[in-house]
Amino acid sequence: MEENQKPYLGDVKHRLMDVVTRIADAAGEAGRDPKEIQLLAVSKLHSFGAVARAIDAGQRLFGENRVLEAKLKFEKLREMHVGLRLHLIGHLQTNKVREATRIFDVIETLDRPRLAAKIAKERDRSGCCPELFIQINTGEEPQKSGIQPIDADKFIRTTRDVMELPVTGLMCIPPVNEEPESHFASLADFADRNGIAKVSMGMSSDFEKAIKLGSTEIRVGTRIFGRRDPALLNRIL
Ligand SMILES: *Cc1c(COP(=O)(O)O)cnc(C)c1O
Repeated sequence: MEENQKPYLGDVKHRLMDVVTRIADAAGEAGRDPKEIQLLAVSKLHSFGAVARAIDAGQRLFGENRVLEAKLKFEKLREMHVGLRLHLIGHLQTNKVREATRIFDVIETLDRPRLAAKIAKERDRSGCCPELFIQINTGEEPQKSGIQPIDADKFIRTTRDVMELPVTGLMCIPPVNEEPESHFASLADFADRNGIAKVSMGMSSDFEKAIKLGSTEIRVGTRIFGRRDPALLNRIL
């Protein structure tokens, strides 16, 4: 068995501590307070057991890509551990909005007017709404989710100021084969310009660069949990 298919508590704990140390170092180099940077442990395609080990090691903030997977893994964990917080970082279909607003504390992937309308409708019906981050497709990749940069300022104003949705952050996923810095810098500019405090950027391979460019939340999966198991969904669904 590969070591990363079944990480022991010691592994996860050790890897978490390593990431926390790197956050502190990168923040120090950038003259920032490490407390400004949250670590989102991305547990998609990792087992219930792997998440439980991260919780035992002290981690409370998790990211998942799919509504159903998050529900199956976290409903029970949340009954067992107070203070767990869950962010949706994957594409959200409009027919899953009700479920998503119940499960997640933050939806990081608000990226189109139709989705905003659906979330607003659900907010009006239920009286509550998770925090929302707007995902910007900084690389303008046709296959990728996220509002186009040219439409982003207007989308931020409409959702936050007109629809009065709780938009508190921005998120981006740079193109895989490009240097991420210009994308991070561009996202930070959008945040500054629009008075938005939270900036979700940086993953396992580039979070130190993201911290230098102003990230307030890094999303780290592989470096904490090892390689993802594509067959996990088949086993738990
Ligand atoms: C999977 C995923 C991550 C984590 O990626 P790693 O390279 O494993 O750290 C971060 N952000 C998003 C949006 C993801 O889908």
